[in-house]
Amino acid sequence: MVWGWFRKKPAREEKPERVYAPPHPRRLNAGAKSLTIKADRKWFTADIEKDLREQIYALPDVPKHERSFIMDQAIQSFSTGGDLGRFSWALGEIGVERARAAEIARAINGRITALINRARQIDTGIYTAEWVHSKAPCFVAFQGDIEGQTKDLAHREANGKRFDVRKGLKIGGKWTYPGMEPGCRCSSRVILKGFND
Ligand SMILES: [Zn+2]
Repeated sequence: MVWGWFRKKPAREEKPERVYAPPHPRRLNAGAKSLTIKADRKWFTADIEKDLREQIYALPDVPKHERSFIMDQAIQSFSTGGDLGRFSWALGEIGVERARAAEIARAINGRITALINRARQIDTGIYTAEWVHSKAPCFVAFQGDIEGQTKDLAHREANGKRFDVRKGLKIGGKWTYPGMEPGCRCSSRVILKGFND
């Protein structure tokens, strides 16, 4: 359109643009490196994006007017395999304290990873899996965390139990999936008939 050529440059925004600058890989410690898990982007489906949006919108730390900024950053972080550095940075930009930002990033990444794993397993057409407790306690946030210990015990007891990957496993009256809940470190292994059955 011709008139577009004559349009004035957009007025400078009041707020400076927030651009993420990833740290140089050499400056990351081993812990930070291990947080960057490469995953296949094709598994970040519309359903998973919808789940991510629900999680972001449910966060009391993210005010309404910052939701689209955080959501954009979340998509860029999680659709490329869990770039927790970027997502934590974005939360910091809107004033979320560092430790809390890391906690949120880990919880969301855990759930998204679990959803992606579930989608991949379903795609293989093998629906039987066995719950695997990592032996490191799930949910225990601090020494003497009774509530966390009780929940961890239920996950320990789930170790070795078989479940349908399309449904998950019912633990404590609630359907769940390994790694789905914040603080759960469990995983699963698929069961192949006549192989590891
Ligand atoms: Zn667990």
